[in-house]
Amino acid sequence: MTESIQERVAQVQAAMAEACARAGRDVQDVGLVAVSKTFPPEYVAEAVAAGLTVFGESKVQEAAQKIPLCPARIAWHMVGHLQTNKVRHAVHLFRMIHSVDSWKLLEAIDRACDESGARVQVCIEVNVSGERSKFGLPPADVPAVLEKSTGLMRVSVAGLMTVPPFDPDPEKTRPFFATLRELREGWRVQTGLALDGLSMGMSHDFRVAIEEGATWVRVGSSLFGERPKRQPPVGLDD
Ligand SMILES: *Cc1c(COP(=O)(O)O)cnc(C)c1O
Repeated sequence: MTESIQERVAQVQAAMAEACARAGRDVQDVGLVAVSKTFPPEYVAEAVAAGLTVFGESKVQEAAQKIPLCPARIAWHMVGHLQTNKVRHAVHLFRMIHSVDSWKLLEAIDRACDESGARVQVCIEVNVSGERSKFGLPPADVPAVLEKSTGLMRVSVAGLMTVPPFDPDPEKTRPFFATLRELREGWRVQTGLALDGLSMGMSHDFRVAIEEGATWVRVGSSLFGERPKRQPPVGLDD
């Protein structure tokens, strides 16, 4: 990496502020989740020194190993797919789970919080594009989950999250962000939930996501550098 993490943090924050200005939004209303998956605790410490306080991980196992080695008082967010059998562990590690993609998972999170006294905020992940390989609930299934969520004991749904299909041109992902915001308006009326959180936008498209209403952007490689390419999954998805 040619630039320091400190410089990259400043660049991302400047780009966020510019996007807010273009959209007539207050910078305070957009949070930066620094996605530190695959990167070591030293990188997290540098980003903390540069002023960041919210970090994201996509695997429970990796987070459980990393978090004790990182500065305290970080708010950790889960941004990756969560398996039901890891929920008990996850509710102790994370303040927010962005990626709740089934009623079963939401119920399990509520139960785990009830049993342990943990507190966690959640977003429902919505598969706006209908792309088969992506996680997330189809939009048609979301209202029923939101309705049922109002009966949960410990957990309330704070907002919605989406990961659009990758396209190097951020203008191509803009319509997915706009669609999620529009869906949200309808679901607000339908369910009476505020659904204030919109978790959308990553390194290459957080600017357009902010223009379309994101309240959380999840940024990894623009802060920490390129990640090593994932190993192809063995025996999965084929
Ligand atoms: C890895 C990841 C990110 C960050 O991606 P970058 O392109 O590195 O910014 C954001 N959201 C989710 C769900 C991720 O898994």
